[in-house]
Amino acid sequence: MRKIVKSDTVIVLSGNDRGKTGKVLKVFPEKNQVVVEGVNMIKKHSRPTQQLPQGGIIEKEGPINVSNLKVVCPKCNRPTRVGVRILEDKSKVRYCKHPDCGEII
Ligand SMILES: [Zn+2]
Repeated sequence: MRKIVKSDTVIVLSGNDRGKTGKVLKVFPEKNQVVVEGVNMIKKHSRPTQQLPQGGIIEKEGPINVSNLKVVCPKCNRPTRVGVRILEDKSKVRYCKHPDCGEII
């Protein structure tokens, strides 16, 4: 089971964007990378489009490795390691590993 999924809130642990939090917009499981809103902005040259008739440079989020991220628990609001628990019906859920929280994420 993946530890980070789309629309999780994550915090960046290293690099230029250390300490930033954002929402996961895209997940690339085969590369262990995700795209996080507002994190790892890269400049891209774009061809002219209707919105941008001259073309030009646009800023866009670049992918970041999941090892640089931690999920922020929606309940206790702290960065946490994500545990995986198997329920009686064999379905898997993720949970916050803070001992005083344990919320299903
Ligand atoms: Zn928690």
